[in-house]
Amino acid sequence: MHVETDVLIIGSGGAGMYAAIEAARAGCSVFLADRSLIGRGGATVMAQMTVAVALGSQTPDHWSHHYDDTLEAGRGLCDERLARLLCEEGPDCIRELEDWGIGWARKDGRITQAFAPGHDRPRCVYVDFLNTGPAVSKTLRGVVTRSKDIRKAGDLLIVDLVRTGGEDSDEEVAGAVALHLPTGAPVTIAAKATIVATGGLTRLYRRNSASANMGGDGYALALRAGAPLVDMEFVQFFPIGHLAPRLIGMDPIMWDPFRYKLGGRLINNAGEEFTARYGVSEDGRYVITRDVATYAIVKEVEAGRGSPHGGAYLSFEHCSEAELRAAFGPVIDRLAKNNIDLTKTPIEVAPIAHYHMGGVVTDARMETEVPGLLVAGEAVGGANGANRRSGNAITEALVFGRRAGRSAAARVKRARAHAFRSTAARPALDLLACGADRNDINTAAMIQALQSTMADDVGPFRIEAKLNRALVTIGEMTRALGERPIGDGGAFDLRLLEWFDLRNMLMVARTVAMAALARTESRGAHQREDFPGMLPQWRVNQVARLGSSGVTLTPVPAVTPAHVPEKWEPVFRKEHAQNQRS
Ligand SMILES: Cc1cc2nc3c(=O)[nH]c(=O)nc-3n(C[C@H](O)[C@H](O)[C@H](O)COP(=O)(O)OP(=O)(O)OC[C@H]3O[C@@H](n4cnc5c(N)ncnc54)[C@H](O)[C@@H]3O)c2cc1C
Repeated sequence: MHVETDVLIIGSGGAGMYAAIEAARAGCSVFLADRSLIGRGGATVMAQMTVAVALGSQTPDHWSHHYDDTLEAGRGLCDERLARLLCEEGPDCIRELEDWGIGWARKDGRITQAFAPGHDRPRCVYVDFLNTGPAVSKTLRGVVTRSKDIRKAGDLLIVDLVRTGGEDSDEEVAGAVALHLPTGAPVTIAAKATIVATGGLTRLYRRNSASANMGGDGYALALRAGAPLVDMEFVQFFPIGHLAPRLIGMDPIMWDPFRYKLGGRLINNAGEEFTARYGVSEDGRYVITRDVATYAIVKEVEAGRGSPHGGAYLSFEHCSEAELRAAFGPVIDRLAKNNIDLTKTPIEVAPIAHYHMGGVVTDARMETEVPGLLVAGEAVGGANGANRRSGNAITEALVFGRRAGRSAAARVKRARAHAFRSTAARPALDLLACGADRNDINTAAMIQALQSTMADDVGPFRIEAKLNRALVTIGEMTRALGERPIGDGGAFDLRLLEWFDLRNMLMVARTVAMAALARTESRGAHQREDFPGMLPQWRVNQVARLGSSGVTLTPVPAVTPAHVPEKWEPVFRKEHAQNQRS
């Protein structure tokens, strides 16, 4: 099957759908492809909480305050242009979603803005604490469905981008090759502009908040097409992912809304509230940032003060049932079905992989170095630097998606004809056609093994020996995977799908481990046990490229605006060291 379109969008999360809407209203034909169901496959539909944006609806605010907070979290590594875009255009996207009927929560007629750790004032809008992402997705899905210029194709796995030379132009991305999962049929797509909006990479880790579609496909697609990646070492771990008791039908990061509304106490197996030991005295409130909380929980477990399943306790026992019900109504009933009564017992929580700050290098038009290739959403690298403020990810998906759609449309207006050549699609088509019937590898087990390697050796706290061990394991697995896919290529051939997933996951995992090994300091979400301090000479972004000898890294000095306060030192390490001594 062959498809022709002005704009191909890969991924239909918040970024992909907003890009589709924007490109279509600029007069382009759009082909919106997703390996899952349209608008239901990635992180956006799973996000339950809040969106950070300087609306100033209740408390006076300005995008520059949001920008300062974003740069502070990024600890000197934010791409200033992208961070500014995110903060400056966020309010506009939020208002547009309101016009489309999302129904942001309101109080006294004004859009409510909640406080979230790390923001200097209440800045986070929401629909309802467990429903924000689903509402964003539903609203965008509605607009996408009403557009006659957007064709949607679910169950379509993009396998490779097609790079080809134009008549009088350099090499450019001119479309993609895809696998139609329900039939096993190959599909070629010719496009004048292609937007990668494939979300993040947290499926690389054993414990993650991701859907099965977030193994970092977009990073691998971009690398193979010649586009560089940046800041790949910065994986954000969400500190209080649900650990125990067993919880069915609810999101593993659902405890954050509880923390926003009711505070709650993080305690160790001695019953102590322990965050003060790491520089942040919470005293029942929720004021600790994600990196400090992750550090504190991991260190308590290492010191033998963890909960039975290897995390910390989170307790709401000081709250009455009436308070819990007033805050969470039906959620309390769902917890009861899981035999959880928060007035009587604490639950156990531990860090899980949640978000990725790194990604594809782009300019403020969302154009990559490769003509014809754009990027949007979590797949973009650099906006959040070494760490992300909570609520910034959905804002980034919306703002960057809209901008990518607009830039793609501008490119389409300049382009004359499709540059797609079927000869350039041949290598990817050959790959799809050559499924081998090998029984010497178990792709499902390999994915699990890779997730364990990443969790154990490239997790929140890193050390040279383990990072080297991870690189050896990844190398062995890459050789075992081989160059030819396995499976029969029939309908929903899981072995074939997993082979393509592993092809990408291994390449991306290698890039993360390499960047983590090279960065011999601790900064933001990247913490090295053997290099605990943040070093001025490491105020550099690491740019990864794929060459004939594999992935290589180049350090590039970070540009930070002069007015940002120098308060990036990770105080929790200093305080912790002092406490250990005293
Ligand atoms: C459980 C959870 C809760 C969160 N809560 C919040 C929150 O409260 N606030 C906040 O700001 N952020 C939150 N985040 C982060 C935020 O949701 C994401 O960063 C953001 O939604 C990413 O949007 P996106 O459009 O870039 O990607 P996604 O929404 O992840 O969409 C990517 C899409 O690409 C598709 N895709 C991937 N690879 C391919 C391929 N090869 N071919 C075709 N399609 C492909 C996927 O199927 C998916 O549909 C949360 C994340 C999770 C996982």
